[in-house]
Amino acid sequence: MDEFMSEKEIEEDDEDTLLCCPACGGTELYYEAGMKMGRIYHCKYCNYIGAFVLEGNLEMRQLLRDEYERKLWAFKNFGHSYK
Ligand SMILES: [Zn+2]
Repeated sequence: MDEFMSEKEIEEDDEDTLLCCPACGGTELYYEAGMKMGRIYHCKYCNYIGAFVLEGNLEMRQLLRDEYERKLWAFKNFGHSYK
């Protein structure tokens, strides 16, 4: 138990939190130029465009990516996405 706790602590200290796309978890985001509404991000991976991005560690980004791949797969196979 104690061992587990300290391991988790180390993990959290170590976590590489990066800005990521809320749609697919991708970290290749860039700012759209010439926007007057503020900062708009563009995800290179899924073409998400929006002002809202997430800060996530590796685990979270993988979850988002998995979810995105699942939706993509469903869309390809059934012609629609599901939640
Ligand atoms: Zn994306």
